Amino acid sequence: MTDLHALLKNAGFAEGFLLPVAPYTDWTRHRNDGVFHPNADPLAADPRSAYPWANAVLICVYPYTPYDDESLVASYYPASNRAYHAMKRLLALLKAQGIRAERADTPYREQLASYGIGSRMDNQLLYLEPYGTYCNLQGAMLALPEPVEYEPRREPKEVCDHCGLCRAVCFGAIEGDYAFDWTRCVHTYMEGDPMPETAMKQLPSLLGCMRCQSVCPKNPKETVPVPEEIRRVLDPVAVLRGNRQEAGELIGKNLAAPKRLLRQAIVLAANRNRTDALPFLLKLRETDGDRFKAELDYAISLLQNR
Ligand code: SF4
Ligand code: SF4
Repeated sequence: MTDLHALLKNAGFAEGFLLPVAPYTDWTRHRNDGVFHPNADPLAADPRSAYPWANAVLICVYPYTPYDDESLVASYYPASNRAYHAMKRLLALLKAQGIRAERADTPYREQLASYGIGSRMDNQLLYLEPYGTYCNLQGAMLALPEPVEYEPRREPKEVCDHCGLCRAVCFGAIEGDYAFDWTRCVHTYMEGDPMPETAMKQLPSLLGCMRCQSVCPKNPKETVPVPEEIRRVLDPVAVLRGNRQEAGELIGKNLAAPKRLLRQAIVLAANRNRTDALPFLLKLRETDGDRFKAELDYAISLLQNR
């Protein structure tokens, strides 16, 4: 019998949970109420019809330690890229064992929370012992040859005490008591659409925002220094100079696409008062002025008036 837990550890995950293929009633209701970003629209509400061949969902946990300075680069997306590759390795290992497996396009946090594995927090993240909210989740649908023993449902545990600290540092997305307005979360602007000026003013670091996690008293306090490579490659002026390939290796090709990374680098250079970015911004206005008009107007005007 295949030892799934040994395989997922070999692939780089800390642990994994095997769940039955079941509909996510609460999650679907929340989605229908408009709680989630439109990216959630294509996710299967009932994986039994989307993956009729599967008899289990394996959700794997890739924890990470946040940076000691999250105002430079948010630690979440480099970790998410490493987790993505861990899942690629796991899918290859499963295939080598003759097990059909596909990346699961399903709401992992909701699935774990509905089994009492981890707890939902006001910042919309999942709290999982011992990592707090500092973990990336990756899932796979499996067709296992043997009958499976699922992770038993646990007693749901309330961890968030609604202290309001995350709400106080947020830009209006966190509304308390699990209510959330995704249109006001900085992560919404990671999708590559032009940024409204309010979002540009708020953008706290390259690759999103970690404020609601850093401030949460339930999270572990350990941090690591920002790795030198991350600091060098994801410096906003380095991105403006053009280092897409190097950046892609650290955060994945999708996120390193100009519509995402370059757009943010333009804004961040201005928010950090990087006047050394001006020559690159002016050049970019000549070559890509229409595409990044809002961001370039914002950044150039801010830097020229300092
Ligand atoms: S900061 Fe407070 S309210 Fe926010 S998630 Fe943490 S415990 Fe909950
Ligand atoms: S990531 Fe930032 S903007 Fe989004 S909910 Fe957390 S604090 Fe608010």
